Amino acid sequence: MKVVRTIAELETAPGTGLVPTMGALHDGHRALFRAARAESDRVVASLFVNPAQFDEQTDLEAYPRDESRDLDFAEAEGVDVVFAPDELYPAGFATWVEPEETGAEGAARPGHFRGVATVCLKLFNIVRPEGAYFGQKDAEQVAVIRRMVRDLNVPVEIRVVPTVRDPDGLALSSRNQRLSPEERERALGLPRALESAAASLDPVSAARASLDGLTPDYVEVLDLGDAKVLAAAVRVGSTRLIDNVLLEGEIR
Ligand code: AMP
Repeated sequence: MKVVRTIAELETAPGTGLVPTMGALHDGHRALFRAARAESDRVVASLFVNPAQFDEQTDLEAYPRDESRDLDFAEAEGVDVVFAPDELYPAGFATWVEPEETGAEGAARPGHFRGVATVCLKLFNIVRPEGAYFGQKDAEQVAVIRRMVRDLNVPVEIRVVPTVRDPDGLALSSRNQRLSPEERERALGLPRALESAAASLDPVSAARASLDGLTPDYVEVLDLGDAKVLAAAVRVGSTRLIDNVLLEGEIR
């Protein structure tokens, strides 16, 4: 496995699958690597904690970082190249992708999807992948990136991988590390409420009603094109968690 730290050193190749990550790799990322590996001749994983997508400075500072562990993790999954740049924004950087439809998640996190869309377009231009792999867990991200690729005619296929969960149902997230045992127990109310509401005629109201004790930032139905999901965000202590479950269609 090659570790590349500058754009100049990164080679492009046909049949490349790209998995963009911010590191702190877990089984959710593993599922993305495996999907990319199964469909690509060459797998590039990017590892970059993108400051532009953090709407809270404390969240950026607290973001877990362990590069040597991440490199071992990626190598074990057959990743060919890890692109881990120190910096992706040149001095004087002044051009952004500004998505205009970012749903409830975008409303709750001003500027977040501008940072996400901009870094993803940069990565697509640098790596030139045929496919790029994203997790269902960040459903609004999928919707935003799919729309950007369509609107700006970016030649990449966006592939979506179903959410990987702990056995108790909590969606894996790098931010779960910050939950105390008591908070983790309360956090389980999120997947439980979404799961129990999914079959209801009015899933948004049903999820709100069963989120006992957790105050949602929002609960909404989100259209991913091939699928509709019931999505919500809650805050447990100082940690913000998002999750969603399939309502209809297919994740792909
Ligand atoms: P991150 O490193 O948190 O920016 O996530 C990198 C990619 O992994 C994103 O496309 C996420 O949607 C995806 N991802 C994060 N958590 C999960 C999960 N539990 N299951 C599937 N994909 C995930």
